[in-house]
Amino acid sequence: MADCIFCKIANGEIPSQFVYEDDKCVAFRDIEPQAPFHVLIIPKEHIVSAMEIDETNSSIVGHIFTVAAKIAREEGIDKTGFRLVNNCGKDGGQTVGHMHFHMLAKRNLQWPPG
Ligand code: AMP
Repeated sequence: MADCIFCKIANGEIPSQFVYEDDKCVAFRDIEPQAPFHVLIIPKEHIVSAMEIDETNSSIVGHIFTVAAKIAREEGIDKTGFRLVNNCGKDGGQTVGHMHFHMLAKRNLQWPPG
């Protein structure tokens, strides 16, 4: 989508630090990291939020989880663990209208989140 910041990151219009890319998704470092390791995994297709996931596009979610496991092995956090979280809508804390999964690691993450 023309004025979507994450579409621009995915297509290289806005520079970012990629940690992974394939034909369906990209993962890049969050500009305001909330943990020593904090990347965002997003579909290349513009999907506004988890509320737009249905039978036609739900395979992207499984793909993103597969990519997260790949990144975890590469980063050496497959044994220590990580958090994969999606904020959906205003009350969910979503601030960018392009669905994304936060992948956070390398510190002891608390529960419940604020
Ligand atoms: P959320 O609040 O779940 O929508 O998360 C949006 C995330 O995008 C926040 O953690 C921001 O720090 C991050 N963010 C916003 N702009 C950029 C950018 N240009 N590059 C990397 N991360 C960004």
